[in-house]
Amino acid sequence: EPPDDLTTQKDRVRVIVRVRPMNTREVDKGDRSVLTCDSENSILVDGPQHSRRFTFDAVFDTSSTQYICTCFAYGQTGSGKTFTMVGPSGAGIFRMDENYRIKHFGLVPRAINYLFQKLREKTHESNVVFYIRVSYCEIYNEQIRDLINPSHTESLQIRGSIEDGFYVENLFQTYIETMDELLTILEEGELNRVTASHNLNDHSSRSHAMLSIQIEHDLQNSDDPKVQITKQGKLIFVDLAGSEKVKVSHSTGRQLVETSNINKSLLTLGTCISALSDPVKRMGHVPYRDSKLTRLLSDSLGGHGITLMIACISPAISCENESLSTLRYANRAK
Ligand code: ADP
Ligand code: MG
Repeated sequence: EPPDDLTTQKDRVRVIVRVRPMNTREVDKGDRSVLTCDSENSILVDGPQHSRRFTFDAVFDTSSTQYICTCFAYGQTGSGKTFTMVGPSGAGIFRMDENYRIKHFGLVPRAINYLFQKLREKTHESNVVFYIRVSYCEIYNEQIRDLINPSHTESLQIRGSIEDGFYVENLFQTYIETMDELLTILEEGELNRVTASHNLNDHSSRSHAMLSIQIEHDLQNSDDPKVQITKQGKLIFVDLAGSEKVKVSHSTGRQLVETSNINKSLLTLGTCISALSDPVKRMGHVPYRDSKLTRLLSDSLGGHGITLMIACISPAISCENESLSTLRYANRAK
């Protein structure tokens, strides 16, 4: 249950920006930062090509540690999306030292940890039984693949309607009871994600990864104990494909087609979020149907859902244009 002040029209979409620290490659090159986080919610881009200040719901600078929320991550390849969602070096973290890995957990393991803790308390208090159901898929080049059970060769199909909600037909769903079960799903899913060699980053992900967590519990109806009511909640975490433009990555041929599909769904997502954050446009036409990503996200973006966008950016001068484009994208969603 979100607190009341989170469910007002104005706050349905929140946008925060997170700047990752300079990496060793950038430091070795003598790169310097063009970004200054000068307050809790503003950021200044001041480089040779741009000088502009942006304000958001929150800005996290390079010194910020991991935190908890429900959301999706947007940004160019290498800007820290997977780090923010899952943790450092994606799946590799799960083989690291227990204390290290817990300290550096990203948002998803933190959210689930919190969820398990709260549900345990509730179970203890009231004997209610909770179920947590997880599915994990990727949208790659407008094709949907199961990341838990990737045996299907053909794209999975979207069924449903805007009114009743869209879902992926035949998507594998599994019940989890422990953190380790979640971590295994995250690890295997990360390994199953489609990656293509890319100038910016060899393991650059060209796909949107969508982790869906359903929380259900059965309530006994006090008037008629034989009637069971099922209550549901849903958390969706989307680690979006890199937002970089074609010209930056020198993509050609097949990669060019992939990049334009990726950019198209990111563009549609931006348009939908921007419409949803405006109380008037929200009531009008929101172009969910223009991409598979937005169609699947339509019930969480619209309706009573609360959306959090994390824009990930690098402080490096070499990323100035991409960082500015990410900030512009995030700014449109406010
Ligand atoms: P993306 O998923 O956007 O392509 P990654 O999450 O893989 O980017 O991040 C790229 C690299 O930068 C990884 O090695 C990651 O561990 C590191 N990194 C990203 N964000 C941070 C951060 N806030 N603090 C420290 N290291 C980070
Ligand atoms: Mg990534």
